Amino acid sequence: MKTYNFSAGPGVMPEEVITQITQAFETNAHTHMSIIEISHRSKQFQTIITGAEKKLRELMHISDEYAVVFLQGGGSTQFEMIPLNFATKHHNIALLDSGNFAEKAAEAAKQLGNKVTILNSTKDKHYQKLPLLPDNFDATSADYLHIVTNNTIEGATFHQNNLPKTAGRLVADMSSNILAEPYNVSDFDAIFAGGQKNLGPAGVTVAIIKKSWLTEQDLTGVGPMMRYQNHIDKQSMYNTPPVFAIYALNLVLDWVIQQGGVTEMYRRNLEKAARLYAYLDQSEFYTAPVEVSARSLTNIVFTTGDLEQDKVIAKQATEAGLFNLNGHRSVGGFRASLYNAQPMSAVDALIAFLQKVEQQA
Ligand SMILES: *Cc1c(COP(=O)(O)O)cnc(C)c1O
Repeated sequence: MKTYNFSAGPGVMPEEVITQITQAFETNAHTHMSIIEISHRSKQFQTIITGAEKKLRELMHISDEYAVVFLQGGGSTQFEMIPLNFATKHHNIALLDSGNFAEKAAEAAKQLGNKVTILNSTKDKHYQKLPLLPDNFDATSADYLHIVTNNTIEGATFHQNNLPKTAGRLVADMSSNILAEPYNVSDFDAIFAGGQKNLGPAGVTVAIIKKSWLTEQDLTGVGPMMRYQNHIDKQSMYNTPPVFAIYALNLVLDWVIQQGGVTEMYRRNLEKAARLYAYLDQSEFYTAPVEVSARSLTNIVFTTGDLEQDKVIAKQATEAGLFNLNGHRSVGGFRASLYNAQPMSAVDALIAFLQKVEQQA
């Protein structure tokens, strides 16, 4: 039975990359080592990590004004590193509350002693709409504005064409839609993304940081591992980096380039998402509740309106080879994650399954 993985994270990886990784796990006849046991100081890994940075720069058109680093600790550690490095003047972070991961970032920044000003929230709308930036936002009173481009759990997205326009600094959590659709890196002062949604396996986190912004900061009291500058100065080898995760990430970047880059990923993602939303929108059994202009391309949220029934259907889906369709435990319903590596055939199989259930209902 052909199976598909709709998990929100760790998510589906390209089949070709899984094959390459499988081979690399075997002890290499020339190096006498498996990929999992190579040194981060080896020539082999130097080529991998410099290649990964170069490819990410090429794919996202990242200029020399920005540093690119590969870190550990996931997106969640960035919820702390970002304020430690950048909330140094006002200790006030402006934030648009568009979902669970925005709330978590706010909570982390607060626990570090900062003030977090929630400029707008769509919590009372179950995050099915995007919070807009109020016209009277005074960017000079906050160190930066924090947004989550793609709300992995609730399914609303600040696409490039509906990004909030601030006169101040802008930080984006792109964990679940980096490389899935185009963004102008120059519109941001810092971008971060955990690896396991769209970039590769868990264990590596990408941070893209405007260098000139870093040099303005007084980091007294900030420990060495929390300072971006230390990681930048050592080319992501201030301490032992997640060698295997970076190796796999590098292969995923090769794959994205071979497929035609972000332009092609975006074209495919638009097509995949459009096909699924079109089915859901005409269905009288399922609804996709997120407002149309903000709909995620990577995390498609829907429900029959009966959360218990949704659970039963998600279980039947598993038996049909369609895995991990349950919505996040905080939301319920269904969530189909259509990351870059998700083929169109997965969407077709999902629609065929949902149709069958609908007809029997
Ligand atoms: C998954 C996710 C996170 C958390 O990532 P971890 O790697 O689990 O810390 C943060 N933000 C967004 C948008 C996510 O999707």
